[in-house]
Amino acid sequence: MVASPSHHPSLRQGVGLDEFTTWKVGGTAEWFAEPTHQDDIRALVGWSGHHRLPLHCIGAGSNLLIADGGLDGLTLCNRRLQGSRLDATGGWIEAETGEPLPTLARKAARVGLGGLEWAVGIPGTVGGAVVMNAGAQGGCIAEWLHSVQLLDPTNPDQPVTWSASDLAFGYRQSRLQQEPLIVLSARFRLDHGHDPAAVTARTSANLHSRTSTQPYQQPSCGSVFRNPEPQKAGQLIEALGLKGLQIGGAQVSPIHANFIVNTGRATAADIAALIAEVQQRVEAAHGITLHPEVKRLGRDHPWI
Ligand SMILES: Cc1cc2nc3c(=O)[nH]c(=O)nc-3n(C[C@H](O)[C@H](O)[C@H](O)COP(=O)(O)OP(=O)(O)OC[C@H]3O[C@@H](n4cnc5c(N)ncnc54)[C@H](O)[C@@H]3O)c2cc1C
Repeated sequence: MVASPSHHPSLRQGVGLDEFTTWKVGGTAEWFAEPTHQDDIRALVGWSGHHRLPLHCIGAGSNLLIADGGLDGLTLCNRRLQGSRLDATGGWIEAETGEPLPTLARKAARVGLGGLEWAVGIPGTVGGAVVMNAGAQGGCIAEWLHSVQLLDPTNPDQPVTWSASDLAFGYRQSRLQQEPLIVLSARFRLDHGHDPAAVTARTSANLHSRTSTQPYQQPSCGSVFRNPEPQKAGQLIEALGLKGLQIGGAQVSPIHANFIVNTGRATAADIAALIAEVQQRVEAAHGITLHPEVKRLGRDHPWI
């Protein structure tokens, strides 16, 4: 029996994770915490290591399918660890792991820092965006990231700094997807000296073009599949007439074929089954394997 340490007020037992993902699905976390300070992360990681508990790290849960069976061990949700420091003259931004990407894009625009205009419509945290090398509308994290501060759970008292070149970035890929390191903060080098009104206008235009072509009103995880370049996953799926295809409460969005939406009562199993169905149909018709961009946590998904 693992005792709850009295000095971690944010630590709770048996917390439903559906609230913490944008798909609004996922079972219960055995232990759950939303730290508000980097010292809390270090202490919680040390505690889970001491008790040999599995450790899962999530941000805004906007690229995650968490199993209906929930997660053993400690789930650390970093979305409350927000904040950023901007140096408009030098072109630097230092952001905490839980800073929302849209907030960062807006703050940068307001002081005339260019580069993050594409990030305004991506509902993730800085930490999750670095891990995913999030990108849109021609931009991505890898282009603007200078360095990250990371915590190795096996040595939580000594954070390390990696430069962007250490992260082996690729299309929606980074080395952090293979290594169990936690992003504590990120430092960006942006283009300085722009007219704040012009950067803000570009940022707003980017948001508008996304919300008018993507199903932002329903729970989703954005694009489910990586694009099998030079093809677009959405076009391959749409060409097969799969928009609207439904399993349980999960539906291929009638608005954008690479989105799967939760129509209200979807389970993770519904979504996983729909992902597998779409994969099979695209493979059979086009001979192309679609690989999910979305990450899975938990064990009961059938589409591995
Ligand atoms: C409506 C909608 C539109 C979207 N549009 C886009 C888009 O245009 N482009 C795009 O790239 N993505 C898009 N996404 C997907 C998603 O927003 C991004 O992948 C985002 O970067 C994920 O950030 P997150 O904080 O939600 O990470 P999560 O989903 O919480 O986690 C993603 C992965 O990162 C890991 N992780 C999270 N935080 C940390 C941390 N601090 N340290 C270590 N590991 C961590 C998790 O374990 C998981 O493996 C969209 C999603 C939605 C819902």
